[in-house]
Amino acid sequence: MKILVLNSGSSSIKFRLFLAPARTETGAERGAESGAHGWRVAARGAVTRIGEASGQVKLSWTDGAGRVYGREDAAGIGSHHAGMERIVAGLRETGALGGAEELSAIGHRVVHGGEAFHAPTLVDDDVIAAIRQVTPLAPLHNPANLDGILVARKLFPEVPQVAVFDTAFHQTMPRTAYRYAIPGYLYREHRVRRYGFHGTSHHYVAKAAARMLGKPLSQCNLITLHLGNGASAAAIRDGASLDTSMGMTPLEGLVMGSRCGDIDPAVHFYLCRHLGFDNETLDDLLNRQSGLLGLCGVNDMREVHSLAESGDEDAKLALGVVCHRLKKYIGAYMALLGRVDALVFTGGIGENDAEIRSCACSGLESLGILLDAEENHGVLGRVGRISAQDTLVQVFVVPTDEELEIARQAFEALAGEGA
Ligand code: ADP
Repeated sequence: MKILVLNSGSSSIKFRLFLAPARTETGAERGAESGAHGWRVAARGAVTRIGEASGQVKLSWTDGAGRVYGREDAAGIGSHHAGMERIVAGLRETGALGGAEELSAIGHRVVHGGEAFHAPTLVDDDVIAAIRQVTPLAPLHNPANLDGILVARKLFPEVPQVAVFDTAFHQTMPRTAYRYAIPGYLYREHRVRRYGFHGTSHHYVAKAAARMLGKPLSQCNLITLHLGNGASAAAIRDGASLDTSMGMTPLEGLVMGSRCGDIDPAVHFYLCRHLGFDNETLDDLLNRQSGLLGLCGVNDMREVHSLAESGDEDAKLALGVVCHRLKKYIGAYMALLGRVDALVFTGGIGENDAEIRSCACSGLESLGILLDAEENHGVLGRVGRISAQDTLVQVFVVPTDEELEIARQAFEALAGEGA
């Protein structure tokens, strides 16, 4: 069984082709949370710069003996349809995919599912209409995700398509967590509420943490921190999302590469009244010119560190603001959860940046969080425990794998349909 995972953005399509394990190997069959066991990547790659004069197609694939090959082509790629055709042609030419009959499903990342979707969903016309309906909530992402679905349906009409939503995992949040304290009609008539994002990643690392704790996810209380260019925290009670730091859009919460995270909404009025800012300027300012970039001029955490090491005061401040906000969320989520089994770091920064992890956890000994300095610095790029012995809260690093999680969820959605 092969499952193709597509992450279709406004000017790119990233893809991965997985070989699913035999049914007896899967977690679904064992009734446990399935691990990465048995899943193999047959091919991966991306089509980028769709719509520009010089697009690019990257493809790497693995043969039966496990040898990895790669190739790269430059070509004008006018549309998502043309991009998908290139991907399919590439997969066929390299032998990674014989024909449509080898595909048991195509899994699609969809950013916003609104309140309509709380689980991976087999795509039909009604589902497409429902995704379209929530597009005003994610005007940049959902149309691109939908493009991917429509093109894949056209090219592979017989293959089941499964939509996996970034918001779905957080649909278990109680009203007390997801409602904003603004007049109720804005929620009831205009869907203004907190939704949360990165759900696929929070779910994936939560399952990995449960395996490390040696108990079912449904018995685990966790705080998961996805720290990449976008960043979010989640409080997970009994395996389900209780709260998360992103809101109606991915702007709320932690400090990110170029997004400000939490900010007093009155700053907006002030900027409009005193500096004459309009909506577009504000959107650009808070989503694309703020965060690390706004504080110190660069949005890549590695560059922030090198600036700070060379004595740059703005970069030092940026690191301080990031860690202050992280610590605040860890404390708040500990209070919400009461008992926390583990704190989990993931995402490019969470997985690789020992200094941020150490700074975010410093001074939390009285809450049961204490890192082992050696483990924290030694864990680079792999799953590991970085807390000291016998602490109340274990601290883990888990490299996330959203594509694998989408493949697994697509596989389980099909199993649920009796396919
Ligand atoms: P995205 O959200 O785009 O998927 P990633 O999860 O890849 O992003 O995370 C990107 C961030 O991770 C960047 O800020 C990058 O600097 C940071 N990062 C990657 N490797 C390291 C590292 N070794 N040390 C510190 N930060 C790192």
